[in-house]
Amino acid sequence: MSSICDIRNFFPALDQTVNGKKLVYLDNAATSQKPVSVIKLVDKMNSGVNGNIHRAVHELSAKTTALYESARDKVQYFINASRREEIVFTAGATASINMVAFGFAQKILKPGNIVLISGGEHHSNIVPWQMACERTGATLRVLPLDNNGCWRMDLLDSLLDSNVKIVSVAHISNVLGIINPIEKIIEKAHSMNIPVLIDGAQGIVHSKVDVQKLDCDFYAFSGHKIYAPTGTGVLYGKYDWLEKLPPFMGGGDMIESVSFAKTTYAAPPLKFEAGTPNFIGVAALGVALDFISQIDSTQVHKNEEEIVKYILKELSSIDGLILYGNSKNKIPLFSFTVKGVHPTDLAMLMDKMGVALRSGQMCSEPVMERFGTESMLRASFAVYNTIEEAGIFIQSLKRAITMLS
Ligand code: PMP
Repeated sequence: MSSICDIRNFFPALDQTVNGKKLVYLDNAATSQKPVSVIKLVDKMNSGVNGNIHRAVHELSAKTTALYESARDKVQYFINASRREEIVFTAGATASINMVAFGFAQKILKPGNIVLISGGEHHSNIVPWQMACERTGATLRVLPLDNNGCWRMDLLDSLLDSNVKIVSVAHISNVLGIINPIEKIIEKAHSMNIPVLIDGAQGIVHSKVDVQKLDCDFYAFSGHKIYAPTGTGVLYGKYDWLEKLPPFMGGGDMIESVSFAKTTYAAPPLKFEAGTPNFIGVAALGVALDFISQIDSTQVHKNEEEIVKYILKELSSIDGLILYGNSKNKIPLFSFTVKGVHPTDLAMLMDKMGVALRSGQMCSEPVMERFGTESMLRASFAVYNTIEEAGIFIQSLKRAITMLS
């Protein structure tokens, strides 16, 4: 697959009309479309290769178990984890973060302890920690954003002290599109023996993740943003941490032995995979990673750079438009407001033109508050979006603004 057009051809959902117009799908940060190989595998499993995993000796169970466990190998390889046992399958990034926050509340956090997050987090990396703090008497501390949406790294030293028991921050912001300096925060936190969780919901899509090189303690992401089915996700955790933390849910498959007197738990990762998992979705996540691995990443980066350059130039020429998130390290994700026009009205009008955008607070109310707005409009691009689509987006946006002003 060398060109973006080649890549596009694998995504049937892109080839449709919406409101009588050719679809330009720019809501990829919310969820991505799926390639044919993923769709086919889900269909094949639902129509025949379907037996519950890990439990039975029959052929169908053996096949689904093999597909599920080979997906674990593929994720291990994809993020370069040192052991396959460090890959826990979850329902998504939210579930992964909740799993760690719950474990920390049970085992680690005490009154007076601190959880450090940034001012640019998604609700999924705020609320689980607030819940953990409520249960334990710990407190949430926030690394603020500067006016460009970048972390105030100059304040990090003053915010990290021996009371901080975990740092939990996003790799890439879902509102600002900024690639955060996670290497620096990990290095600094580790120099004080503080573990770090990286919310990689957007990061896994737009950067090559090497968890050993990063040396993060946890890395959480969702399958559905990376061309896999919904209801799939991963929690990478260093094995020692996974051993130390208690299970999040009890049930089948997560036990070593059960009696009415006492239950002992399976070793990681099964300790964290109670009940029947989404084994069809997970198998398809493996196929989605195969798909990504076949893509020419140089070509994709070139295309993304071209899109970023073009859109930044065009947006800056629109009167009254404020773009949030200014950094050299930016993915093709653009959140903005236009003076005098409500983002939802713009999004609805652009939908009529076939352009799918996101409007609202984007599950990041504190970011809205930081920038003094209640909502924004967001265009987010994926590997299959072309520079021509970027052009249609800009033309439609200009037309919609004129119609609404
Ligand atoms: N963190 C970030 C940065 C996100 O963008 C999202 C999804 N918008 C999440 C966490 C939550 O992901 P999910 O809803 O798939 O669990």
